[in-house]
Amino acid sequence: MIATFLDRDGVINKETTLGPDKKITVFSNAAEAVKMLNKIGKVIVVTNQPWIARGMLTEEELEGVHREMVEKLAASGAKIDSVYYCPHHPEIHHKDVPDWARKYRVDCSCRKPKTGMLEQAALDFKLDLKKCFLVGDRTVDILAGRNAGCTTILVRTGEAGMDGKYEASPDYVCEDIYDAALIISGIMKGEK
Ligand SMILES: [Mg+2]
Ligand SMILES: [Zn+2]
Repeated sequence: MIATFLDRDGVINKETTLGPDKKITVFSNAAEAVKMLNKIGKVIVVTNQPWIARGMLTEEELEGVHREMVEKLAASGAKIDSVYYCPHHPEIHHKDVPDWARKYRVDCSCRKPKTGMLEQAALDFKLDLKKCFLVGDRTVDILAGRNAGCTTILVRTGEAGMDGKYEASPDYVCEDIYDAALIISGIMKGEK
């Protein structure tokens, strides 16, 4: 089975720098893009959400945000097969973390650029990661995709790859999620 992994912030919805974005603004062409990707295989969101480890958002609140996002896309006929998130942060010595959030202060294996979320999805959906695609707006996404053996596509929305955190060259660079879906469709048809 093939899947397209989508980063969330800056790819599906507007980048939010404040974290606890209890409202999510989905890009206007995201649903059309996801519909195109639905024809190719599974569509799976993989997102780092360290706001939970910072004590600014609970998992329940985050899951509420994701339900809203999935429902908004579904209303336009676009299907998100699953959402995986990493609630962790590796910095253990942070004084202003509330007690309930301390358990999320771990050096986990799911926080991108690690591949834990992609590997879990591969088990859950019987994916061949080498045939999968990853669309992201940050170098951390591209590196996670490369680490898992996926074909990677950087979009110019959100951070547009300008975060400068990692050296990671994507296989393709394009405008936005819709363009990325066109590229992936082209690859699947043998045009690229
Ligand atoms: Mg992002
Ligand atoms: Zn994690």
